[in-house]
Amino acid sequence: MNIVTEKYEAVIGLEVHAQLSTNSKLFSGDSTTFGAEPNSHISPITLGHPGTLPRTNKKAVEFAIKMGIACNCEIERYNYFARKNYFYPDLPKGYQVSQHTTPICKGGYVPITTSTGEKNVELNRIHLEEDAGKSIHDLDENYTCIDYNRAGVPLIEIVTEPCLYSAEEAFQYVTEIRKLVRWIGVCDGNMEEGSLRCDANVSIRLKGEKELGTKVEVKNLNSIRNVKKAIEYEIERMIKLVESGGKITQQTRSFNANDDTTFAIRDKEEANDYRYFPEPDLTPFNLTEEFINNMASALPELPEILFKKYQQLGLSAYDAKQLTEDKATAAYFEACAKLTSNIKAVANWMTGPLRQSLNGQNGSFDTISLAPAQLVGLIQIIEEGKLSFSAAATKVLPVLLGNKSKQALQVATELNLIQVSNSSEIEEWVKQVLNKMPEKVTEYRKGKKGLIGLFVGEVKKVSKGKADPKLTAEVLETQLNN
Ligand code: ADP
Ligand code: MG
Repeated sequence: MNIVTEKYEAVIGLEVHAQLSTNSKLFSGDSTTFGAEPNSHISPITLGHPGTLPRTNKKAVEFAIKMGIACNCEIERYNYFARKNYFYPDLPKGYQVSQHTTPICKGGYVPITTSTGEKNVELNRIHLEEDAGKSIHDLDENYTCIDYNRAGVPLIEIVTEPCLYSAEEAFQYVTEIRKLVRWIGVCDGNMEEGSLRCDANVSIRLKGEKELGTKVEVKNLNSIRNVKKAIEYEIERMIKLVESGGKITQQTRSFNANDDTTFAIRDKEEANDYRYFPEPDLTPFNLTEEFINNMASALPELPEILFKKYQQLGLSAYDAKQLTEDKATAAYFEACAKLTSNIKAVANWMTGPLRQSLNGQNGSFDTISLAPAQLVGLIQIIEEGKLSFSAAATKVLPVLLGNKSKQALQVATELNLIQVSNSSEIEEWVKQVLNKMPEKVTEYRKGKKGLIGLFVGEVKKVSKGKADPKLTAEVLETQLNN
């Protein structure tokens, strides 16, 4: 396979559909709530009955603009919708209302990081459109059932240029898009429920070739893992096909998650002529500068900005990445950083013990039952030498979690974990330990300096973990070197 992969290059362009988190549909007041009784969110507008008049959902327009700004797009001032005409059972009107040819957001890019470095994934456009209903083939033996609840739900379609060159880049890009839509609150990013779906366009060409090869489109990938698997499979299939003298035909394909393969569903020659024309029932809408500026200022600080900021504050790229994984994590970190300058400790706790505890119960930082002030209090007493890190993580933290009224110092005191940093008490323990092991003391004095660890450990034992280890080491050195 190696010689072959050196000979060819894969080119990928992705179309991601994100369902906007509005309460109502794109052109009607019907609810968008997922999982409702089939066909319970279907007014005559959704069903396209004659004489009904759609109206554009302002919130959906706002969300599309927000995503456009977050992706560095140019925002179109003059907008209208068009009808994309085709017949399909889950499309009750016989056409889909879309902005396919006149997108609200143009150009733009999304930064990603892969094992080979950083890159900006160029976008072609982001446009608004309505979703179709859902055909359910496995409910009845003889019939296909149709649920129109999803028909008319607002989507944005985010379309990249053909500028991705590996399954890994595609994986990172979709990961980044999901993070971003969640971050700015325009889509819940839930791929299992279909809130985020991806079509992958894949082609191959000889390395150095400028022209794009014939592409296939793998439809409706419903997990980021499947995006990667489908692309990997396609690249290999196409290379094998071409290497064995075959010819790639333009196809629409589907992914089989059971064996990670793809199969053809139709050839492009059968493609419809969609007869696009401006939707006569909806007035075009103009966006003012003020409206767009308001959207920009309503955006939270974006993860890529915070990622850079945290690194400038002295955190590692790893920590900065972890802390900007989602908005709740970043917000928690920010709240702690307001209360202490020891942000490295905050990062360590958040990416270490707190993360572990959250993972164990499928929790996240917006529901964590530990107030930022409690964490900072804990960090503070460790810094002051009153509590060891291990006692803090294994004994105090479990009590604090879920007990918002308790403070670290109080818990550590109640559990009798406060370290003694009073030197006379420590001197006593040190004396006790050294008297117990005279041979070791002699060995140490003869040069076996590594024994210091043993002594510190012994003092820890006799003091039941309460001797401040730093001070213990100091006292030990003084007594041993006398
Ligand atoms: P279509 O009209 O078939 O939907 P578009 O030109 O709108 O095609 O492109 C759809 C997506 O396919 C875009 O993300 C684009 O970057 C990508 N794409 C187009 N041509 C190719 C190609 N030859 N190889 C890979 N991706 C492609
Ligand atoms: Mg397409």
